[in-house]
Amino acid sequence: MEREVVEACPNELFIGGKWQAAAGGKTLAVEDPATGTTLCEVADASPADGVAALDAAVAAQADWAATAPRERGEILRRTYELMTERADELALLMTLEMGKPVAESKGEIAYAAEFFRWFAEEAVRIDGGYQVAPNGQGRFLVMRQPVGPCLLITPWNFPAAMGARKIGPAVAAGCTMVMKPASQTPLSMLKLAELMTEAGLPAGVLNVITTSDSGGVMEPLIRDGRARKLSFTGSTQVGRKLIEQSAEQVLRTSMELGGNAPLLVFADADLDKAVDGAMLAKMRNGGEACTAANRIYVQTPLMDEFATRLAERMAALTVGRGTEEGVDVGPLIDAAQRDKVKDLVDDAITQGARVLTGASVAEGNGYFYPPTVLADVPRTARLQKEEIFGPVAPLTAFETEEEAVRMANDTEYGLVSYLFTNDLTRALRVSERLETGMIGLNQGIVSNPAAPFGGVKQSGLGREGGSTGIDEYLELKYVAINVD
Ligand code: NAP
Repeated sequence: MEREVVEACPNELFIGGKWQAAAGGKTLAVEDPATGTTLCEVADASPADGVAALDAAVAAQADWAATAPRERGEILRRTYELMTERADELALLMTLEMGKPVAESKGEIAYAAEFFRWFAEEAVRIDGGYQVAPNGQGRFLVMRQPVGPCLLITPWNFPAAMGARKIGPAVAAGCTMVMKPASQTPLSMLKLAELMTEAGLPAGVLNVITTSDSGGVMEPLIRDGRARKLSFTGSTQVGRKLIEQSAEQVLRTSMELGGNAPLLVFADADLDKAVDGAMLAKMRNGGEACTAANRIYVQTPLMDEFATRLAERMAALTVGRGTEEGVDVGPLIDAAQRDKVKDLVDDAITQGARVLTGASVAEGNGYFYPPTVLADVPRTARLQKEEIFGPVAPLTAFETEEEAVRMANDTEYGLVSYLFTNDLTRALRVSERLETGMIGLNQGIVSNPAAPFGGVKQSGLGREGGSTGIDEYLELKYVAINVD
């Protein structure tokens, strides 16, 4: 079954509605992180292939913008249906290239499909306005039009959902695209392109390029001037560089960047809910999520009980190959990521953190790291500042609300925070003071296609999903009307 799913996946570039090899026939290997072995080879695009993809997107833009919103919506709706029908196959493919357990991959397929359903409904709700000027003498007509060809770049941790969150609104708005998925997980996106073609997406609207030279291929497209927008999900470090490149042609940018989420547990919280929430916020995607709780701050009276229960739950998780029955946590994406997690944990231990569970890397193939809970983590530990991107829960006690808010906000990131309290006034007061774009209040998950996802500070610009998600792909045009 595994081999069949990989063999059934396209492995070429998708440009102008045609599957084609990279110029010069170069390929790049896709690895199974659970074994370290090669799954397959996909086309390795050159800068010239990138330009060909942009040519195709530019050529398709005018006709696509003129396509009826209902038709665009129906293509998205059919994509949702096809993804739902083929969820098992898509989930297995995702697990093979990314490592997460199949049950989690199915969850991501459902989440990704939901973006298509949501934006199918948004496509036919693009409205405008007509207004009498304040002095009564003129009229304002406001219309919303597609931005134009878009460049989309996505990371490896959610190989389908991060793309769906961009392609859904771009298709709904009437934009064409060049999509570049992460080189480590290109298969889910290639499969999605095939599926969208089956759903009726016209040639040239979505072009997908895979490459081992992401900077070399994408920078000329960003600087080209014909693309009008860049939407990027990935690290803050790369995001900053892309904002700089986008400045040359003054591209519209949407940036979904890194996170360093705090999770605050106040002494008045419901302990069961707090432990459940922490497990979800920490362990979704094995901790390889921008929304992962990285810094868990617990008010002193609850700390011992919370730490014991969290450590028990983490120790009970089964680590293994994501395709196997009963596995809760798969491998990390590669050796570098596993070594980084190990270094961060070692640094915290050297600085005085106590290991409640985990922290020992097993020998063998694949990039596994055990679920780990660290107590008494000092504020100076590196993992209080740097994204962990692994199954490590660092606990630190706090005394007062003031101290908790100060620690939570002490980061350049501002994507999401989690807050557990049964005191309504505290919940509102602290929510207002937390410097993040999203807050999970007594729950450990915020992602929902119908809600505006995004961060403040160095976690990004713009919002994806929700009723404003489509605005990222639309320009306002205003006509001043003389009615005399
Ligand atoms: P990354 O290294 O920034 O890569 C993200 C994407 O950018 C990949 O497709 C990568 O291609 C490409 N890329 C890298 N350098 C580039 C360049 N110079 N020019 C153009 N493209 C370039 O991030 P990652 O390690 O894949 O993903 C993890 C990061 O994503 C974390 O920081 C996480 O917090 C963030 N993230 C944020 C959100 C959010 O919604 N805020 C969601 C998910 C993940 P290659 O694969 O070829 O390197």
